[in-house]
This record gives sequence, structure tokens and C-alpha cells, in this order.
Amino acid sequence: METIKNMALIVQKFGGTSVANIECIRNVAKRVAAERAAGNKVAVVLSAMAGVTNQLDAWAREVSTLSHPEDMAEYDAVVSTGEQVTIGLLALTLRSMGIPARSWLSWQLPIRTDDMHMKARVSSIETKELLVSLEKGEVAIVPGFQGITESGRVTTLGRGGSDTSAVALAAALKADLCDIYTDVDGVYTSDPRIVKKARKLNKIGYEEMLEMASLGAKVLHTRSVEMAMKHNVRVQVRSTFSDNTGTFLVGEEEIMERRLITGITYSRSDAQVSLIKVENKPGIAAKIFGPLAEAEINVDMIVQSISPDGKVADITFTVAKTDLDKTLEALKISGLKYEKLFTASNIAKVSVIGVGMRSHAGLAQKMFATLADKGINIHAISTSEIKISVLIDEEYLELALRALHTAYGLDAGK
Ligand code: ADP
Ligand code: ASP
Ligand code: MG
Repeated sequence: METIKNMALIVQKFGGTSVANIECIRNVAKRVAAERAAGNKVAVVLSAMAGVTNQLDAWAREVSTLSHPEDMAEYDAVVSTGEQVTIGLLALTLRSMGIPARSWLSWQLPIRTDDMHMKARVSSIETKELLVSLEKGEVAIVPGFQGITESGRVTTLGRGGSDTSAVALAAALKADLCDIYTDVDGVYTSDPRIVKKARKLNKIGYEEMLEMASLGAKVLHTRSVEMAMKHNVRVQVRSTFSDNTGTFLVGEEEIMERRLITGITYSRSDAQVSLIKVENKPGIAAKIFGPLAEAEINVDMIVQSISPDGKVADITFTVAKTDLDKTLEALKISGLKYEKLFTASNIAKVSVIGVGMRSHAGLAQKMFATLADKGINIHAISTSEIKISVLIDEEYLELALRALHTAYGLDAGK
């Protein structure tokens, strides 16, 4: 006799715009109901309603500089609340449709994290009770973004962290699929809101997706990709508002049609710091970057140029905009001597990504030539095996993205 196919266990994650209001939540409930009606067990991970986390974040920053770890713990207590609202509302909506459903806050499972408030990492998820609930045919609804420390304090995973919650839950439940529902129908060669000619990718390799996410493509939280890669979670990015097949994250070996360049991303979240005429002697870089490392400030791009007589150097580097004040404070304490210091926040980083870069020369030159042709000045450059990033004035960002997209032959219809 033929064995009956087991029910699949699916994790569905819905982002902020997918649960933006009651009508949207009803739409999500229909999607959940359809998945369940297809005979699958469904665990749902939700974000807060669009804009809610921004509002909570703004309120917290209005009353605090968030400079003490204890402040950060309170920040998490505030910003994690948006998800509590949406999970309860979805459970109520499903129940009113006659579908058994219940919400599980992170401490009720629990979803354990380390104690790095505002950017905590998930360490484990207890799934015993969830599995019992799923087995009974209930829809389990879990908040994204939040976790709980060993000592019982609420944490958050960093902005956009609900994707990571979903992939972590899928890994813990050994789910067959983790569907990330959002407001675009997949991962594109560039942000489709800016580059109208961007094309949808049917598949993308974990490694390239990791690079795209960490260089600004906010369609997936960077750690969600890391987690999917590590635990081999099948992830699909797809639209809440259409039935189109989305983009699957896959191992590199599954990508048959290999393009040299996968995509072009941007980030507006960095600030530039330039130190002019720093005395050029051994140990100077350590004197600048040591205190920054101690203050847990990540430095991204670094450019150093030495004066012709070798006596002084200009040093430019970038840090997250949110770390700029802390950076200036750390530089002050370091006692470093320089002639001038200036900062700029109206800058953007543009990155071209592709594993094909490993084996092809000349791909970086194309980027420089394209930007030069448009009269766009480059302030800093950084490269790795599979990407090249440049820092430009923010006002040229959209022009740069579109020009590069065309130059690398990524435009749809080509
Ligand atoms: P959600 O609230 O569902 O988590 P996000 O706003 O975090 O949604 O992520 C989706 C957005 O990511 C899209 O609206 C799109 O503008 C942006 N995005 C940036 N780069 C890309 C890309 N390469 N492909 C698809 N979307 C992208
Ligand atoms: N609500 C959180 C945020 O806005 C988490 C998420 O949406 O992924 O950052
Ligand atoms: Mg998101």
C-alpha cells in the first residue's frame, strides 16, 4: 500500500507592511488558513504593524541616550511590544474564523538569546509545547524580533530581526519550508523600488544573499541568511499580496545559470569621518581604531593617504550613523593629534556583488568607469573576494544604482 504523504510543517513569516492594519491581518489570516487547509502544520512569525517599531524607537530615543546597558534593556522592553499586538490580533482573527490558534510570547516558549540588548543573538528555542500545539492542529503564532535572556529579560534582535526569528524557529522545528512574506515578490538584482529595471531572481545562493543582506538589501535580515545557511533551512522570499513564486535560497551548486554579478545594493546607514593631517608614525592606526574597537564601534571602510613628504596622513573611515556620537567621543578620549576633523552623514555606500568576481578581472574597473562617466566622485573603496563597495554622495545614489545596473547587464529584458 502506498504511504500517505506526511503533513509538511511550514513557518510563515509576515513583515510590517503585511500586518499594517486590520484588513491586512485578515488577509494574512486567509493565507494561514489556506496553508492549513492544504493539510500542513503552520507556525507563524509576525512583525509589528508597519511604522510601529519606528515610533517606539523614537520615543525611547527621545527620553534616553541609551548609553548604559541597563538603558538598552529598557529600550528592548519598549520596542518589543509591537509584535505582541499583532500576534494577539492574528490569533483572535483566526479564532473568529473557527481556526484554533494561539499566540506565544518569547518568554512563554522560551526563545533564548544572549544578553546583547538591541542586537541579541538567538541561542535556542524550546519547541516542546509548540510541537504539541501544532500536533493538535493549532496554528502557533510567535512574535518576531524578540527573545529572552537566561536571567529573564526581554531582548530584541536588531531592526529587521523578525526574519531571523522565523528562520531560527524553522531550524528549531525542523520545518520543511520557511516562507518570508513581504511587500515584494522576491529578491531582485537591486531594490525594485529604486531600480525599476531590476529583475527577480528565482534562486540565489546563500553566500551571495548573505553579502547582499549585509551590504544593505534589507529584504532579509543578515543573520537570518547566516542561520539558514548554517542549518540548511529552505527559505522562500515571496509576496503577501500575490501568489507568485518567490525567490529560493539555495546552495551555490544548485544555481545552474551563473551570472558574474548577482546584484547591486546600497546602504544609507553609514557616516563618514575624516581626520586631516594626522602625524604619520607607527602605531597611529592602532591609536585611532583601538579606542573605537573598545567602544564596540564597527569600522567599515578605511582609506589612508600619506602626504608626499611622508610626515602626515589623511584618514577617512565609516561607522554606522547611530555610532557617530560615540565615535567622536572615543576619538576625543584617545588624545589623537590632527589638524582637522570632519564628518558627513549625507553619503551612501553602493556595492556590486557576485561570486563571479573571484575568477574575473575587470569587474571593479567597470564600476569606476561607469561612475566616472556620470561624474560621480568616489570617497572610499573596499573590496572582498565577491564584492566591491564605494562610498559616494547620497544625492547621486539613485543615478549610480541605475547606471551600474545597466552597465553590468542586469536590466530586465536583456
Ligand atoms: P518586511 O517589513 O516585510 O520585513 P522590509 O521592508 O524589511 O519588509 O523588506 C522589503 C523591502 O526590501 C522591499 O520593499 C524593497 O524595497 C527592499 N529591498 C532592498 N533591496 C532589495 C532587493 N534586492 N530585492 C528585493 N527587495 C529589496
Ligand atoms: N518590527 C521590527 C522592526 O521594525 C522587526 C521586523 O520588522 O523585522 O525592526
Ligand atoms: Mg524586514
